[in-house]
Amino acid sequence: MSMFQDIPVDVGIAYEGERIRRTEMYVEFGGPDVKFKFELARVRRPEEVKDSEVIIIGPDIKDIPEGSSVPLGILVEIAGSQLEEGLEGIIERRIHEFTNYVHGFMHLNQRYDIWCRLSKEAFKKGFNSFTYLGKVLIRLYKADFPIIEKIQVTFITDPKEVERMYYEALKVYEARDAKARGLKDEDVDEFYGCILCQSFAPTHVCVITPQRYSNCGAISWFDGRAASKVDPKGPIFRIPKGECLDPIGGEYSGVNKIVQEKSLGAIKRVHLYTVFNYPHTSCGCFEAIAFYIPEVDGFGIVHRDFKGVAVNGLKFSTMADTTGGGRQVDGFHGISIEYMRSPKFLVADGGWERVVWVPKAVFERVKDFVPEKVRDRIATDEDVKTIDELKEFLKAKNHPVVNRWKKIEAEVKPMEVKVGEANVPQPAQATVLEGASISGIPLTSGGFKITLKGARINIEKVIIKRSVSTG
Ligand code: ZN
Repeated sequence: MSMFQDIPVDVGIAYEGERIRRTEMYVEFGGPDVKFKFELARVRRPEEVKDSEVIIIGPDIKDIPEGSSVPLGILVEIAGSQLEEGLEGIIERRIHEFTNYVHGFMHLNQRYDIWCRLSKEAFKKGFNSFTYLGKVLIRLYKADFPIIEKIQVTFITDPKEVERMYYEALKVYEARDAKARGLKDEDVDEFYGCILCQSFAPTHVCVITPQRYSNCGAISWFDGRAASKVDPKGPIFRIPKGECLDPIGGEYSGVNKIVQEKSLGAIKRVHLYTVFNYPHTSCGCFEAIAFYIPEVDGFGIVHRDFKGVAVNGLKFSTMADTTGGGRQVDGFHGISIEYMRSPKFLVADGGWERVVWVPKAVFERVKDFVPEKVRDRIATDEDVKTIDELKEFLKAKNHPVVNRWKKIEAEVKPMEVKVGEANVPQPAQATVLEGASISGIPLTSGGFKITLKGARINIEKVIIKRSVSTG
């Protein structure tokens, strides 16, 4: 692109899905080793924005030692007579796309959780200052959003300043999310879709409804509406709902149609409010994973920042490999934190009454939205460490899932299928347990399947209880 002649590396859509491994990176910004990081877009008054200005607070790239992981804040400030605060969310989300256009720069995740890397190669070519990244952002924003009249971009690497602004940013995100609460999926005629993550997860189409935030937690239904208006040809688009085919599972003819189109036929049906039977696809930037725990017939939740091992013995990163990539994986579901506050949260599976384990850090953030009936009956990482401890905890607290255990014992004759040491080392290999039904899940015709494609997990034992009625 000729508009990037003064940038030392190529800039273009072709580089969007580029991964930079640790061995190839010159320096890393944010990510799991850095506590304070954020990106934020704000609409300002014209006099507050100096057009096309790039500001750097703290050491610039060339002053950062090779191989280090440092805090980073990215602040995009815009002004324009047609701009309103309601557009901040979608302007902010495009940082992900635009910075990824830079050959040798990788951007993952969003908001308080960004993870960027600059390659050694790009640095060697002269990409040694945030000024270049700022120029790229400014030009791409202006090209895609003619309503932006003035834009300035600030990069903050000064650790104290990043920390201070991080807390400011959290307040802005929370205010944005709170504003989007209250509207119901039934109240609107259209949803919105987002394919920003297709560069990393080619078959992923995020369906954003009033009660289902994007997986990344950065785009609400209002953001979707704003984006589809100001940038109708952009990565966020309208989805006319069509006919409601299943109000509990959340299946809509309009969603099926558009998802099929935008995934190039890979995904044919989506059930929005469930982890089973055509669950919503998961990209790679989901904030948390809801995972099925067959032993207790309930769900655990693990969030990206959780450093330990979840109650099922797996780390977030391990489960993320199984969950992501734009596939529909029964029993593993990438979600946003905000979705956990929604009345539609996994409602087809029982919602919060089915959740048995959540790390304390994330539970604190959502617990006001958890029905009182179960609020004190859900285990956290501080309460239990293993499945056996979890079972005891749930029994002692009389968690609603315990009733399901009793029902299952009374209704079905268990048949054990032992998948001993199912160690799946290669992503290409897959263990597919088809046609089986897991106890306690409401069965539709033919049951459903659990597919552990490319799972890098070590399963000691999977017990599948086949219901008598479905054979
Ligand atoms: Zn995503």
